[in-house]
Amino acid sequence: MPRDPSCVFCKIVAAEIPSSVVYEDQYVLSFIDIGPLADGHLLVIPRDHYTNLTDAPPEVVGRVGSVLPILSRACLSVTRAEGFNVLCNQGRVAGQAVGHVHFHIIPRKEGDGLGYRWNAGKYPPGRDAELAAAYQKAILGRP
Ligand code: 5GP
Ligand code: ZN
Repeated sequence: MPRDPSCVFCKIVAAEIPSSVVYEDQYVLSFIDIGPLADGHLLVIPRDHYTNLTDAPPEVVGRVGSVLPILSRACLSVTRAEGFNVLCNQGRVAGQAVGHVHFHIIPRKEGDGLGYRWNAGKYPPGRDAELAAAYQKAILGRP
């Protein structure tokens, strides 16, 4: 099982540091974020250590993804939130502070002040198709 002894989330998986666990199975652990953006903010992680979403094998990401609906439903019912954001930050530039792939489930309520609208741009003619072609090429090149 991939593990990084210096990783805080690996230490949580190994119960070397405490956490408030809300869900666990053979592959996945979910616990309360210690620095919540909203009451009931959850983290969902694979037990195995992969730094980034892009390093993790598809089956590992799939196992994490497959529990998101049940955890999200629980989040809505426990926090009485009206919605939630699921977020995965990759890279320091995107705000990733812990190098063990994880998803946030952030409960949302009207007027919580967290915001969600980032500044949307607009493509010049042809740019979206050009990007789609580049993406298709990249995806075919790396199955
Ligand atoms: P990131 O910014 O990497 O996407 O999010 C890392 C999250 O992990 C942060 O929201 C932070 O509050 C949470 N976190 C960091 N260390 C601990 C810890 O020791 N225990 C728990 N429960 N959460 C942690
Ligand atoms: Zn780890």
